[in-house]
Amino acid sequence: MTNTLGEATLGELAQALRGELIRPEDPGYDDARSIWNGAHDRRPALIVRCYGVADVLKTVEFARSEGLPLAIRGGGHSIPGFSTVDQGIVLDLAPMRGVRVDPARRTVTAQGGSLWSDVDAETQAFGLAVTGGLVSTTGIAGFTLGGGIGWLVRRCGLTSDNLVGADIVTADGRYLHASEDEHAELLWALRGGGGNFGVVTSFEFRLHEVGPTVFAGPVFYRGEDAERVLRGFRTATSGAPDELSMVLNMTTAPPAPFLPEEIHGKPVVAVLGMWSGRPEDGDAVTRPFRELAPAVVDLFGPVPYTGMQTMLDALYPRGMHNYFRSAFFSDVGNTTIKALTNAYAHMPNPFSELHVHHLGGAMGRVPAGATAFGTRDQEFILNVVARSATADGYPAAVEWARAATGALGPDAAAYVNFTGEASEDRVQAAYPKDTYERLVAVKDRYDPTNLFRLNQNIRPSASH
Ligand code: FAD
Repeated sequence: MTNTLGEATLGELAQALRGELIRPEDPGYDDARSIWNGAHDRRPALIVRCYGVADVLKTVEFARSEGLPLAIRGGGHSIPGFSTVDQGIVLDLAPMRGVRVDPARRTVTAQGGSLWSDVDAETQAFGLAVTGGLVSTTGIAGFTLGGGIGWLVRRCGLTSDNLVGADIVTADGRYLHASEDEHAELLWALRGGGGNFGVVTSFEFRLHEVGPTVFAGPVFYRGEDAERVLRGFRTATSGAPDELSMVLNMTTAPPAPFLPEEIHGKPVVAVLGMWSGRPEDGDAVTRPFRELAPAVVDLFGPVPYTGMQTMLDALYPRGMHNYFRSAFFSDVGNTTIKALTNAYAHMPNPFSELHVHHLGGAMGRVPAGATAFGTRDQEFILNVVARSATADGYPAAVEWARAATGALGPDAAAYVNFTGEASEDRVQAAYPKDTYERLVAVKDRYDPTNLFRLNQNIRPSASH
C-alpha cells in the first residue's frame, strides 16, 4: 500500500504533520499497531499519531483524497477492533490527552485521546467527577460516543448525558463545535451514536461533586449460591438510592491475596459497587448487597474515588482475546435467573464473566429520544465478557457469549459499546427505529460517503 501511495506523497504528509507517521518498516510499528483486544491483529499501512487538531485535519484529508480506509483510535479499547485496520490508515489520538477543568463552571474539557485515568485525576483535584469507566485505561472517546456506563450512572446519568460540547473534524475537513446552540442535532447524535460523524478532538462534560472518599468495594459469594445471590440482588436493587450503582459478576476467583486460597480457581459471584453519597451512610446503604448469602469475603469500606476507578484495571490486561455481547432486560425474574445460572454452568474458561449492571436512576429519567442512546427503560444490562488467553479458545468463548445473551430473548436490545462484532443487526438492535432513522439523517448531513465506517456503523442513505 505504501508503495502504491508513493514516497513523494508520504514525504509530503510527513512534512505537513507535527505528529508522527509510523510505517510497517519503522521500529515501534508493532507496538503502535496493537490495541487492547488481542483478538484483532491487523497491519495498517500507516499510523498517524496526531499532536493536535491540525494533524487530525491533515490526516482526514489525506485518507479521503487517497481513498484509504480510516480507523480512528481514542483509547484503543474497541472490542470489535475498530481502532485498527488492515492496509488502511490509523488516526491515533493517543498523544492528545490534555484535560482542563473549569471548577467555577463545573465543566471539564478533555482531548480525544484522554483516558479515564486522565479525566479522573484532574477532576478529583477539585472534588468533581463525571460518570467514567469501570477500568481507567479505557479511552473517554469511544466510551462517551457509545453511551458510557460507570459507577455514577444512576446518580449522574450516562457519560454522554453529561456531554455539553464537542469539537469535531468532519469528513469534508471542517472543524465544528457541537453544542445545544450550534450543530445541536450533531451533539444529539454524538450522545450515543458512536464514532460515525467525524473525529472528536475534544469533549466538554458537566461535572458533579463526588468524593474524594466514597464507600465501595466487592463482596464475594460462593458460586453454588449464585441463584440465591441473584434473587437477593433483585430485591436489594429495587428502591436502591441513585447514589448507589452495583454490578453482579459471575466469575471464577482469581489467585488474589485478598481471597482465601481454598477459593482460588473456583466459581464465585462478586457483587461490587459504589455509594457516592455521604461516606458515613455507606455501610448501611450497601449492607443489603453484602448479606445475600454467607460471604467468602466482604471488602466494602471507604476508599478514594480514584481508587475505586482503578480497582479493576489489573484484571483486564491488554492482549487477551476478548468478545463482549450485551442484552438489556427489565427484571431479574425466574426466566432470567435460569438463563444466567445456565450460562454460568457452561462457562468456557476461568477468564469469562457474566456482568449484570443495575441501571435506572438518573439514566432512566432522561426522556427516550432526548439523546441518541437507545435504551433507558430497562433496569439492567447483561454484559457477557468472553475471553481467552489465546486464539485457540476464542471461538468457543464467542459461541458461549452469543448463547448467553440469546437466552434472554432474541429481541433484547444491545449496547454498542458492549458489542463484540460489527454487524448491522447488532447496530439495529441498539437503537429504536425512530432513533436509528434520525441517526441516518445526521449521518447523511455530516458523512454522506461513509468515510467514518469502522465503527458500529450507521450507513448513510446513499449506501443502501
Ligand atoms: P477506541 O478503540 O479508540 O474506539 C472505539 C470506537 O470509537 C471506534 O469505532 C472508534 O473509531 C471510535 N472513536 C474513538 N475515538 C474517537 C474520536 N475521538 N472521535 C470519533 N470516534 C472515535 N463501556 C462502558 O460503558 N462502561 C464500562 O465500564 C466499560 N468498561 C470497559 C472496560 C474494558 C477493559 C474495555 C475493553 C471496554 C469497556 N467498555 C465499557 C466498553 C468501551 O466503552 C468501548 O470499548 C469504547 O469504545 C472504548 O473507547 P476507546 O476510545 O478506548 O476505544
